[in-house]
Amino acid sequence: MTAGKTLRIGLTGGIASGKSTVSDFLAQMGAAIIDTDKIAREVVQPGSPALQVITERYGRAILNEDGSLRRDRLGEIVFASPAEKQWLEALLHPLIKARAAELAQMATEKGVPAVVFDVPLLFESGWNEPVDAIWTVYVSPVVQRERLKLRDGFTDEAATARLAAQWPIDEKAKRADVVINNEGTPAETQRQVAAAWRALRGLEQQ
Ligand code: ADP
Repeated sequence: MTAGKTLRIGLTGGIASGKSTVSDFLAQMGAAIIDTDKIAREVVQPGSPALQVITERYGRAILNEDGSLRRDRLGEIVFASPAEKQWLEALLHPLIKARAAELAQMATEKGVPAVVFDVPLLFESGWNEPVDAIWTVYVSPVVQRERLKLRDGFTDEAATARLAAQWPIDEKAKRADVVINNEGTPAETQRQVAAAWRALRGLEQQ
């Protein structure tokens, strides 16, 4: 592997498994982080073609008074109807992927050592942007539930519902090229990130 090549990493994990924590470490090492959750919010901003299409389908009740999308309402609609979920994904996924590819291209042109696609639902959504490696940030479901409750103030029930809406984290770990175990201290996680980064960049021998 040549030193000058920009590597592409697909970063995933479960809710509250530590993706943000790991992407912060990767950013400190010089990687450009492409946050697909953030892009998903950008593509439906007021004035965007996608928000226009969504408003035509669901009426103005899907908008707040300031013209922004009522994400809670849209969430209820797609949670209740697989067909609506499919419709919305068919609209948004290509836009999100196109913007992510554009940002990756810009970062590559700047010569960053790696671009990291932070995609919480990488496996569930059939993400197919080519990457050199998929990294899964892993904690056991027990730790995951506790951290989720602590971070977001969820009850046991709410946390369980969130976990049930995603693939089990063990399944994501099985399919990854690299598993970062985030059950220990942040410093231990950082060491694993640094080691995996060196291995991927072919710097083990240096
Ligand atoms: P994600 O981005 O996958 O949803 P976060 O990185 O936000 O997960 O981590 C979830 C929660 O767990 C946050 O409150 C974070 O501060 C905490 N956390 C992350 N890594 C660790 C760790 N190694 N030890 C203790 N707490 C952690």
